[in-house]
Amino acid sequence: MPFMNKTGILRDERYLDHDMGPYHPESPERLEVIYEMLEEPDMKGLFIDIPARRAKKEELELVHSSEYIDLIASSDGKDSVYLDGDTRTSPGSNDAALLAAGGFCEAIAMVNSGRLKNAFGLVRPPGHHAERSRAMGFCIFNNIAIGARYAREYLGLQRILIIDWDLHHGNGTQHTFEDDPSILYLSTHQYPFYPGTGSYHETGTGRGEGFTINVPLSTGYGESDFVAIMERLLKPVALEFKPDMILVSAGFDIYKNDPLGGMEVASEGFAGIMASIMNTAELCCGGKVAVALEGGYHINGQRDSVKAVLKELAGINKTNISNLMKRADETRVDYALRPVMAIHKRYWKSL
Ligand SMILES: [Zn+2]
Repeated sequence: MPFMNKTGILRDERYLDHDMGPYHPESPERLEVIYEMLEEPDMKGLFIDIPARRAKKEELELVHSSEYIDLIASSDGKDSVYLDGDTRTSPGSNDAALLAAGGFCEAIAMVNSGRLKNAFGLVRPPGHHAERSRAMGFCIFNNIAIGARYAREYLGLQRILIIDWDLHHGNGTQHTFEDDPSILYLSTHQYPFYPGTGSYHETGTGRGEGFTINVPLSTGYGESDFVAIMERLLKPVALEFKPDMILVSAGFDIYKNDPLGGMEVASEGFAGIMASIMNTAELCCGGKVAVALEGGYHINGQRDSVKAVLKELAGINKTNISNLMKRADETRVDYALRPVMAIHKRYWKSL
């Protein structure tokens, strides 16, 4: 066996107990097939299990209002509570949501302490649309936002960089940190699209101005294009910002056959996007990366994509980023980056 990274995974059968009904795309099956994949001969035994735990109320309150946390708690054991047009609870949803947020905090703590090199939270429900007092877009608690604040408040980290490659804009994450210069949020997303936010003009507010970076994209971007965006925008900004850790909102709805999206990333292509982020993390924070599962609705496509990311995280696969970048569609990438660079060069010398 070649040298491998200590890569942690967060998995727990209780994440399957959140069930929004038989035809809902954000289904327990998403994780079922991923957990089965982890038992395949080439994957079994490669990862360190991170114990899931329930987030404490004071941890949730770093991002959410007390009333909202109580509302979700009151759904416990009930058949169903409708939270949003496309988000509802089942009897196990509160527990799953608490374990997703708390488990991800644990993953961050283990990466921070050096017990793990990196980690992947294979959790449900996803989080990046969840607002302070409102569930949205299949999300209940904002796992990545809670994790980032937890790292600041409980682990003493100074600066966190969140990269969100989900198909959709992470409105909840942006709103949590838009006035906070200690947490930099960078999102690529199909635009205009659900949830409607994420224009490049949204750059943060007050002291947080410049620390929100939105890269709205038309359809059709593939892995080489995403890698080019990471190398040309994320990397210089990250080196200037100097985060203590990079958190990733990993949405697999940019997979080429995703039923909700119009992007063109092949399942193996996610390894390249991850490789670029890992390379940047190596340069600025000792490689510390914690990844949280967000969207992704092609059941088998997502499974294969997650597998590719895990192999990259573990160092079993090492994607050559330069080769991938040569295949990027420069016209398409320039079209996306030009307005973002034009706005953000006033905040970032490296642009
Ligand atoms: Zn999404």
